[in-house]
Amino acid sequence: MKAAINNEFKGKLQIIDMPIPEVGINDVLVKIAACGVCHTDLHACHGDWPVAPKMPLVPGHEGVGVIEKVGSNIKHLEVGDRVGVPWLYSACGHCEFCLDGRETLCLSQHNTGYSIDGSYAEYCLAHGDYVVKIPEGLGFSEAAPLFCAGVTTYKALKVSGAKPGQWVAIVGVGGLGHLAVQYAKAMGFNVIAVDTGKEKLALAKELGADITLDFKEVVPSEAIFEQVGGAHAVVCTAVSKPGFEQAYKSVRRGGKCVLVGLPPEDMPLPIFDTVLNGVSVVGSIVGTRKDLQECLEFAAQGKVKAIIEEKRLEDINEIFDDMLKGEINGRIVVTI
Ligand code: NAD
Ligand code: ZN
Ligand code: ZN
Repeated sequence: MKAAINNEFKGKLQIIDMPIPEVGINDVLVKIAACGVCHTDLHACHGDWPVAPKMPLVPGHEGVGVIEKVGSNIKHLEVGDRVGVPWLYSACGHCEFCLDGRETLCLSQHNTGYSIDGSYAEYCLAHGDYVVKIPEGLGFSEAAPLFCAGVTTYKALKVSGAKPGQWVAIVGVGGLGHLAVQYAKAMGFNVIAVDTGKEKLALAKELGADITLDFKEVVPSEAIFEQVGGAHAVVCTAVSKPGFEQAYKSVRRGGKCVLVGLPPEDMPLPIFDTVLNGVSVVGSIVGTRKDLQECLEFAAQGKVKAIIEEKRLEDINEIFDDMLKGEINGRIVVTI
């Protein structure tokens, strides 16, 4: 099968021919139709994070397609089912986190396109218990980004604890953020979108943002306090330390700052302000299978729609270059 493979950190990905994976008793083999390109794939190929991915690596954790083979233990899926293979490739199923509905915190988890080869390929092996079906009527390319960008931001908004009618700021309106804006509107929040460039901010506006702020033209936290008295919650998807610092400073007293983006840097946390302002800072990592079902349903009902541009798997190195420069509007999906 054709696959895009990364052989060394910061090297170019290569298109190679490799064997189709063997299906074990708990697996399904998915013939991939499309896969979204997440900034996490770029972090993986650059070795940005403290936990290194397998190498060589086939990245991709927004892969969607049709099941072609089903392992003998898997009874709830059939050949022909349309599914996506999310970041959470599998979890142990019996630790404290798996048992109380926080499977994304499982210490024994495997991750698609990171610790296990992913969907930048014609076929992807998946654990039958962890793939999620795509609702009818949702096309492959528009479903793909929901398997990471969609579920991650939907979950982060739940974690934010914001209530309908409150102000929520989305810092970083890229692949994740443009979906965050839509989920936030669909959940009844007032939305402030923070990024840079006319195109991204115009898209945010089109998708329902009530206020848009260009971080190169204004200091976002100051503008947010001037215009609405601070945000009740902020979801930060920016791949930049200054973005996180601004996100933190934009939260009003008693509010929550949800950290989602994963730049390879740390952020200083002011103790005095955090204590006096009663601000919460919390991390949020993707979403569970249940979160995924819910987030897909929003799209099936037409309340949320990924803005995508389709490209070929062969274009992956140029896509990564554009992503590094921050030049992608919405999500790129490679069709396979
Ligand atoms: P992306 O490149 O599509 O979008 C990032 C956006 O941040 C860009 O639009 C960029 O212009 C913007 N940005 C940069 N600096 C900014 C600043 N100072 N203020 C506001 N915006 C700024 O990336 P993506 O695919 O949306 O991923 C975003 C990040 O989220 C990555 O680090 C990725 O690894 C991480 N991520 C985390 C999770 C999770 O579960 N927590 C899941 C998926 C991705
Ligand atoms: Zn577990
Ligand atoms: Zn992702």
